[in-house]
Amino acid sequence: MATAFGANQAHGGHAKAGHAERPERLTRTLTVVSADAQLQGALHPVDVTAADLDLPALVHTEAYLQTVVDAVEGGGGMLDADTYTTPDSVQVGLETLAVQRALADAVLSGDATNSFAATRPPGHHATPRHPMGFCLFSNVAIIAAWMRQQHGVARIAIVDFDVHHGNGTQDVFYEDPDTLVLSLHQHPLYPGTGLMEETGRGAGTGATINVPLPARAGDAAYRYAFEQVVAPAVAAFEPEVLLVSAGYDAHAHDPLAQMQLSAEGFALLFYRLREIADQACGGRLIAALEGGYDADALAASVRASLHVLTGIGDAPTAGEHAPAAAIRQPIDDVAQLHGLG
Ligand SMILES: [Zn+2]
Repeated sequence: MATAFGANQAHGGHAKAGHAERPERLTRTLTVVSADAQLQGALHPVDVTAADLDLPALVHTEAYLQTVVDAVEGGGGMLDADTYTTPDSVQVGLETLAVQRALADAVLSGDATNSFAATRPPGHHATPRHPMGFCLFSNVAIIAAWMRQQHGVARIAIVDFDVHHGNGTQDVFYEDPDTLVLSLHQHPLYPGTGLMEETGRGAGTGATINVPLPARAGDAAYRYAFEQVVAPAVAAFEPEVLLVSAGYDAHAHDPLAQMQLSAEGFALLFYRLREIADQACGGRLIAALEGGYDADALAASVRASLHVLTGIGDAPTAGEHAPAAAIRQPIDDVAQLHGLG
């Protein structure tokens, strides 16, 4: 197995003093990954070709992209209450997409089995017409659209375990029966969407699956949700490739949410996702960083995830006890709603 790995090294120009989505997130992670000799022998770099605005235009409107360009050319500033830009933000956002595209290309061409993009800013809140929640470009949705256009991939599954609902990704594919969008998230929490009843629209009905989880859900809850919902849903969908929006803000130490996942818990999620991809789509799994705002927890959790993706180490044992009934119930309800299990 080969794991392709890439980072947008020039991300530091997208920064705002005191903001949670800060360069330290990625620099700390890359320092920890670089210091791991085992990983360095197992991660394969890719050649990255520069991206231009045609790439985000696969998902975003011209008017929205012009708004971002105008803001950046005007010196940067807040696009909404949470989302900032600087003079470098378009360049950093395009480099994020360029890295993610190169990694997806490596997997789809067979050079790698799976991949991980250590990139920022995150993307899953950005909608076709609006920035949102620290996100400028809807990265993973854009890469999915690109895979469809350039590689002729028809059926794509996206699993999003960031602690916040991936509303932007959901918006992009809400009426698309060929893209499964499955989000696990704390609820209630920003952005407030992601109710179980949001299942898609028109031809896309059923291809959106939301798993809202109560605060303080931890490793056992996620293990149970992957058994009851994620594994059967992806298997039934029969995708050609599995994309993962890998946010790490469900970690117990994260300042923006109240979940209890451990670093080993995130390794467990990737262990399961690898099994799911092995069974469903020849192991093809393409992961991209979303949130995660405690820099040390993020770095440790990404490192643990990469150990699993590369096949180093044993099966994670996190969360082997049964979760409380109050946490099992919403998961059981989602499984029943979607006819799983
Ligand atoms: Zn998040």
